[in-house]
Amino acid sequence: MRIDKMLANLGFGSRKEVKKILKAGAVKVNGETVTDGKIHVDHEKDEVTVHGEAVTYKEFIYLMMNKPAGVISATEDHYDETVIDLLEIDDAVYKPFPVGRLDKDTVGLLLLTNDGQLGHQLLSPKKHVPKTYYAIVRGGEVTEKDQQLFAKGVELDDGYVTKPAELKILRNGEIQSEIELTITEGKFHQVKRMFQAVGKKVVYLKRISMGPIHLDEDLAEGEYRELTDEEVELLK
Ligand code: URA
Repeated sequence: MRIDKMLANLGFGSRKEVKKILKAGAVKVNGETVTDGKIHVDHEKDEVTVHGEAVTYKEFIYLMMNKPAGVISATEDHYDETVIDLLEIDDAVYKPFPVGRLDKDTVGLLLLTNDGQLGHQLLSPKKHVPKTYYAIVRGGEVTEKDQQLFAKGVELDDGYVTKPAELKILRNGEIQSEIELTITEGKFHQVKRMFQAVGKKVVYLKRISMGPIHLDEDLAEGEYRELTDEEVELLK
């Protein structure tokens, strides 16, 4: 990649501004001052410094967010705040997008990336990536029969029969119960509609994992962090 493009992408300014920085002799590649913006650099191998400070260029960014309620999983919206609005990174550089959707009132794990290939892979129905949700459910005790129905496949309001899903009962109560449900597909409002199919109502929904990635419990709602290199490797 051309050095001027790389520095502009990293937010050092427009191409014109970057040209000035280069002219001023502030940029070094492998210890040599570079003033020509047309020079090509390999962002993985070459060591680039600006005013003596090393710059690292990554093509892709991978984030996990603990999505709060009231925010929508889209890149832009006319009315509501989006998960992208919560990011403090320069999205003009990386342009991340949410990997799949959580309902406006659902909280928990949401991955964001600008790696289209990985995003596609995680969402592909062929890959059956498991997603685990914690939910609070009302409308009577969650039963063994519900577990069996979910394990076999349950018919939703539009006639679709869900793929086998694992339902764990964490706590059964008279007013409400706590469960964990793992599904391998992502139909619209799927968890809510699965419980609706057995006469119950989800009143709180939180995604706790997607494939090998688990929500970092240190992240408060609305917070996010970059995935570690190990987590990115697990996803690939
Ligand atoms: N299932 C739902 O019903 N809602 C979500 O946000 C995710 C899964």
